Amino acid sequence: MSRIALHNISRQFDDTLAVHEVSLEIASGEFFSILGPSGCGKTTLLRIVAGFERPTSGTISIDSRDVTQVPTQHRGIGMVFQNYALFPHMSVFENIAFGLETKKMEKMAIRRRVEDILDSVHLLEKIDVPVPLLSGGEQQRVAVARALVVEPAVLLMDEPLSNLDVALRLKTREEIRLLQKKTGITTVYVTHDQSEAMSLSDRIAVMRSGRIEQVGTPAQMYEAPASSFVAEFLGGANVLPARVSRSEQKIIAGKLVLSAPATFLDGFGDEDATLVVKPEAIVLSPSVDDGDVTAVIVHKEYLGFTTNFLAQVGDVTLRIASMSSERTKHLRSGDAAGIRFDWSRCTLLPHA
Ligand code: ATP
Repeated sequence: MSRIALHNISRQFDDTLAVHEVSLEIASGEFFSILGPSGCGKTTLLRIVAGFERPTSGTISIDSRDVTQVPTQHRGIGMVFQNYALFPHMSVFENIAFGLETKKMEKMAIRRRVEDILDSVHLLEKIDVPVPLLSGGEQQRVAVARALVVEPAVLLMDEPLSNLDVALRLKTREEIRLLQKKTGITTVYVTHDQSEAMSLSDRIAVMRSGRIEQVGTPAQMYEAPASSFVAEFLGGANVLPARVSRSEQKIIAGKLVLSAPATFLDGFGDEDATLVVKPEAIVLSPSVDDGDVTAVIVHKEYLGFTTNFLAQVGDVTLRIASMSSERTKHLRSGDAAGIRFDWSRCTLLPHA
């Protein structure tokens, strides 16, 4: 198990500053995800940890050893990519054994190690099957096994599930998590999929335009987003530019005028701010009761356990996630409904 430390890492490509002064500490045995939209610099950062890319400035160390100038093959890392990168003309066994053969390991010991690792990814029965005959999910598990068999200090994964269909993605992600728990290997995982990052990670770093926007556990990031970008990216929150009126104890976002509890406005005067409202923080009711705001349903999406609604208040459209219930099941597009806010699940951020 190994600790990774990045100190002030930047990477410039011609006019593009792909990574900008990133400092991170990843603990030994941690499952750490780098999450962000396309082009934010995730892959570049991972390639710098791997040694495929050199930083323009900054240093990286693994277990307190400065590896900034150390070539990939001497960093003790295993890597799994989006496109499996298996040898197509070889069997599962040959693919996994390859890394051990280059270490001049004895034949019987290689066989045992390959069988053990295939057992942990539940593919032992496919040991002699040629790789092209495997499904995408199976190929990706072989790729994980191949990376792990040489017992690297660190496992790096770049969008390993994005070529799989939804069902396989969910199943394979569970297997990756179990395997990581079992081996305790420090893992850095790049993804643009927030649910993947939330479900897999001990901690997440959200990246935006080459910088780290926030680092924390999934719950910390979801419950207390440091910026509207994190709130929107991670929790699909409603991010509303608003005006705070401290004297009237109101928050005004376009035509949406809300009476807020005094404690929610703590630290704010009469000023512009950003109101962040999680979709489940809006309570929807088929009748407009005292204290409710009147909204019009403009879209409904039934998902079984939950139902998502889009509701409009004047010029403001709100995403609402409700538990499917008798009360709301008859609501249709065009219906008026009452909404109220659960302020404990809302955040007020200073104007950016
Ligand atoms: P994606 O999710 O789409 O893979 P990403 O977050 O991984 O995106 P990077 O691939 O790290 O982003 O790219 C960050 C920025 O750096 C992008 O603007 C990209 O075009 C640029 N970039 C990456 N590699 C190079 C390169 N070798 N030469 C020039 N520009 C590059």
